[in-house]
Amino acid sequence: MALAFFFALLAQRVSFVGDELDAETLERMRERAVFLQEQMTLQWQHVENVGQSWMGIRAFLSSVLPYWKVYSLLERMREVFLRDEEKQQEKQQEQEEKQKEVEKEDLFFADLLWPVESHQSNCRLVHFLLSGVIDFFQYTLADTFYPVPERAIGVGSAYEDWSPPENEPVYCLLVPLMAPRGHVFHLDLGTPGVLPSRNSRIRVDLECTCGREQQMRMKCFLHTAWRKLGNQRPSLLHELCTGSYLDTEKTARWFQALIEDAWKRLRFPKPYRLNAQARRRSCRLRLTDFDQTVYLVNILFGVQQDNTDIYLNSQEIQVGSVPSTTWPQTCAVAEAKFFQHVASHAEESNFYVRHMQVAAYIRAGLHFSPYELKTVLMHLLTAIPLESWKGRYFLLRVDDIVRYLRCCVEEKRLNHFFIGNEDVPAEIILPQEFRASQPLNLFQHLVQDPGRQEQALQEVEELQDRLASLLIYGK
Ligand SMILES: [Zn+2]
Repeated sequence: MALAFFFALLAQRVSFVGDELDAETLERMRERAVFLQEQMTLQWQHVENVGQSWMGIRAFLSSVLPYWKVYSLLERMREVFLRDEEKQQEKQQEQEEKQKEVEKEDLFFADLLWPVESHQSNCRLVHFLLSGVIDFFQYTLADTFYPVPERAIGVGSAYEDWSPPENEPVYCLLVPLMAPRGHVFHLDLGTPGVLPSRNSRIRVDLECTCGREQQMRMKCFLHTAWRKLGNQRPSLLHELCTGSYLDTEKTARWFQALIEDAWKRLRFPKPYRLNAQARRRSCRLRLTDFDQTVYLVNILFGVQQDNTDIYLNSQEIQVGSVPSTTWPQTCAVAEAKFFQHVASHAEESNFYVRHMQVAAYIRAGLHFSPYELKTVLMHLLTAIPLESWKGRYFLLRVDDIVRYLRCCVEEKRLNHFFIGNEDVPAEIILPQEFRASQPLNLFQHLVQDPGRQEQALQEVEELQDRLASLLIYGK
């Protein structure tokens, strides 16, 4: 019975109060618990009589809230103080029976609680438009010595489909850059052993092309006299680098000018007005279509690390000021690939979206970052079989997210998903050092500052209350 399951879950929301109680008090509580159980049963029978519309269910839950709150508190106290083997076996049996009921239950669809609002059609549109531009660049830049952009990769919340519905999505695309003919990118990964690297750089070297002049349609930069090079200039090195290192700001400005020019020359099926603005290290596009719908697009640039799913990228860095030649490592492409991998192995491709949307919704104003919640979700998606994420298990899985987060805060440890984690699917190609590394603790700040752990624990309580409120009242 769906509501019985709902009760079981909601009952767990009530915080346990660990005061010591004597046997007489416990007995009185036990009697009270039995009484409340009877009251709840009566209320439930009433609901069954009036029908099971969603509004009816919510009204019912509101009416019995005081009962289940008190009841569940008493029950949890009993569990702690009367813990013996017989009780444990009894509890296990109850849980198995409850699980069987849930298995049979198809009434409780996740869509009823949290219908997914998807931006996927807009994601595809933005990707389509940018792909057209990138194809054009590949054609026009083929005979130059500027970097060659490759097909953009959709990354981040809009493309992973978990933007909070009320927020205007920003469609984030990472444009991989390839070195042009006669140039090589060397990745300088910064401080050894520090992952993901924050101070990595991309050194641009010229390479010898002697003997391949005809095939590469160029003279060797290294072994041809300067005056014999004619108009052939190493544009990448001269215009987009600082010293020998690729410069994020120069790259962003170059791309902005490039896309503005391309937009005038390209004709799309429908007219889209483009406003391109080079931000410090990325490029922000504002696309407006014929009916004034606006699409905000953020273009990042990246260079792939070997053939892995890890890139050095031009993401904006908020903490402190860093040189414009800094290209931090990013796992954004690996994350996108992970969610694609999960989707391809599940019956419902975007089943995880509503879990992330709920998490994003209830965290508003709290200190847990979307990335921390996404990390929790990724760990759970590899730990719990995908068939157990179906609609009827929606509440259990949402509950798992908050419980997992609570455990992490209590233990002051949330491991980075891609570093030192042997559960990362083999389809995700990671650098050897990522797999061989010790796990990276994203909650290290809680270890260093006990005050922050206390605050985080309070915020987990707040998350649990908000989740209960969302499930009962829908807001
Ligand atoms: Zn040469």
